[in-house]
Amino acid sequence: MASRIQRPRKRQMLSLTVQGSEQPSPHFMTVTLGGEDVQHLERAGFDQAGRLFFADPDDATEVFLPTSERWILQLTLQGGKQRPRVRTYSIRRFRPEASAFDIEISLHAADSPNSAGPGTRWARAAEPGTRVAFLDEGHSYTPTPGAAWQLLVGDESALPAILAILEQSAANLPAEVFLEVPSSDDIRSDITAPPGSNVHWLPRTDVGAKPGALALDAVKQVRLPDGHFYAWTAGESSMATGIRRHLVRERYVPKSDISFRGYFSYGRASL
Ligand SMILES: Cc1cc2nc3c(=O)[nH]c(=O)nc-3n(C[C@H](O)[C@H](O)[C@H](O)COP(=O)(O)OP(=O)(O)OC[C@H]3O[C@@H](n4cnc5c(N)ncnc54)[C@H](O)[C@@H]3O)c2cc1C
Repeated sequence: MASRIQRPRKRQMLSLTVQGSEQPSPHFMTVTLGGEDVQHLERAGFDQAGRLFFADPDDATEVFLPTSERWILQLTLQGGKQRPRVRTYSIRRFRPEASAFDIEISLHAADSPNSAGPGTRWARAAEPGTRVAFLDEGHSYTPTPGAAWQLLVGDESALPAILAILEQSAANLPAEVFLEVPSSDDIRSDITAPPGSNVHWLPRTDVGAKPGALALDAVKQVRLPDGHFYAWTAGESSMATGIRRHLVRERYVPKSDISFRGYFSYGRASL
C-alpha cells in the first residue's frame, strides 16, 4: 500500500560490508554499510530506501547473497537454507568520503530480543566485515510545487527517513513533524530542519501499544497551520492509511498533495 513511488532510473545490486555500528538510543541501531560498489548507488530522493539482503545471525549456514537486480530469480535457484533474509531500510545518511552510507534500524521487541524479527536481530549482531547486498528501491517524497509548508508523520520505522528529509529539505519549506517513538529516551535533540519547523515527539508510554496509533491520534486532534501544504506519511500500515484518509476526508487535502506508505504491518513479518 503506497502512492507515488519513484523507482530508480538505473540501479545495480551492491555488494557491501558492515563498516561499523552504534546505538544512538535504546530502540535504534545505526549501521554503516560501505565498499567500492557504493559508487554505483545514485542519490535520488530524500527518503531513498533499498532492500537489504543478509544472513540470519542465528543461523550458521553460509547464505547466497544476490549479485543481480533479478534477485528473485537468483534466490529461487537456491536451496531454502542458502536464501538470505530481505528487509527494506531507508538511507539515513550518505558518507561519500568513506564510500559508505548509514541505515538506522528500529529495534522492536526490545524486551524480548529473541522474539524480534530477523532485521532487528541482524542489527544487534552486525559486526565490521559482515557481508550484505543492497538494492535501491527508490523514494516517495515528492513535495508539491508551491506548497508553503510540509506535514511529516511517522512512527519509529520512518524516523530515519524523516530525519533525512528534514536535513535535506528546502529552507523555505518548514515542517510540522509528528514522530512517534518507542520511549522518551529515543527523542533526538540534534535535529537539522528548515527554519520555522516544529517537531512534535510522541513517545509511547504503553509498551504493548500498536505503533502509529499515537501519531494518528495527534494529527487528528491538532490545529494545523494555514496555507497550502504537502503531506508525507510512512510507518505502520494502518497509521499511514489512517493519516491519508483523515487528511482527505476531514481536511479536504487533495490526494495529489499526499504521499503515504505502509512500512510494515503490525503483527505480520515482512516477506
Ligand atoms: C520503503 C521502506 C523504508 C523503511 N525504512 C526503515 C528504516 O529506515 N528503519 C526501520 O527500522 N524500518 C524501516 N522500514 C520498515 C522495516 O522494513 C520493517 O519494520 C521490517 O518488518 C523489519 O523487519 P524485522 O525482521 O525486524 O521484523 P519482521 O520479521 O518483518 O516482523 C516481525 C514482527 O515485528 C513487527 N514489526 C516489524 N517492524 C516493526 C517495527 N518497526 N516496530 C514494531 N514492530 C515491528 C511485525 O509486525 C511482526 O509482527 C522500512 C520499510 C519500507 C517499505
